Amino acid sequence: MAERISGKDVAADVKASVAAAVRTLPGQPTLAVVLVGDDPASQVYVRHKVTDTEEVGMRSIKKTLPATATQAEVEALISDLNQDDEVDGILLQLPLPGGLDANQAIECIDPDKDVDGLTEASAGRLVLGKTGLRPCTPTGSVILAKRALGDNLSGKNVVVIGRSILVGKPTALLFLAENCTVTIAHSKTKDLPGLCRTADILVPAVGRPQMVKGDWLKPGAVVIDVGINRIDAPERGEGKTRLVGDADFADCEPVAGHITPVPGGVGPMTRACLLQNTVKAACYRRGWTLPDGV
Ligand code: NAP
Repeated sequence: MAERISGKDVAADVKASVAAAVRTLPGQPTLAVVLVGDDPASQVYVRHKVTDTEEVGMRSIKKTLPATATQAEVEALISDLNQDDEVDGILLQLPLPGGLDANQAIECIDPDKDVDGLTEASAGRLVLGKTGLRPCTPTGSVILAKRALGDNLSGKNVVVIGRSILVGKPTALLFLAENCTVTIAHSKTKDLPGLCRTADILVPAVGRPQMVKGDWLKPGAVVIDVGINRIDAPERGEGKTRLVGDADFADCEPVAGHITPVPGGVGPMTRACLLQNTVKAACYRRGWTLPDGV
């Protein structure tokens, strides 16, 4: 039976390391979060990010614009934050209200403050292996795999299912940087179950509920399930739903060596890695030594 990797516990450890690191810094890092519009889910996410930031001893700035804001207004706000020397990290909460171009707005973020790791410059630095800010969910996935197998992932066969710019591609590159042998699978991949059976570490990042079955796994494999899918749960009552991953947890658990649950797996790591990135951004920008454990 697989050991469950609790993203909640690992995220709490990451948060504690960030808090300890912040106490050793010569100054206080600042994260600015930009919220455009009044999407209720985005408001909750932003509130969590503000609380997380303050809990680890960093300064948080929240900037809001109405849903009627123009592209120019969003970009002007980002530009002000770029120029504000006190601000180390800028996070643009997505999605933006209809009519606004998220990619164009993201590109306005100074790459040295791009704590979500989403700008073209950050992607380029990742591909080139240069110092930079890496996307949070992929970073969290690697940390969880290390929690299962130890810090040395060298030579492990990794299969990432999904090649999105936000998740699949950066995840593959981060495992490559750990000296893993990485294969990226996608919707045109032939014999996906057979390919998955070659993986020491399998990372489904697709968005298809419970797609990965137990007989897709090499016995003892580590499953880092990035997928988050809401499905109907009539067993909980009429109209009820629940969250599941891309792996069929009940089917995979007896075969895998380690597996992340959904919810409570990769999800909490994304928030924790944002805090880590804010410390890194502050250290790189201000010439501070990066503390251990970050
Ligand atoms: P996406 O942009 O829709 O990409 C999905 C990828 O899956 C694509 O590359 C697609 O291949 C591939 N795919 C689709 N059907 C497939 C199939 N039958 N077999 C193999 N590959 C298939 O999604 P995303 O933004 O990367 O997100 C993926 C999942 O991660 C979603 O469930 C999302 O909610 C979740 N997510 C979780 C977190 C977190 O914090 N845990 C953060 C972000 C996203 P093609 O390229 O060939 O179309």
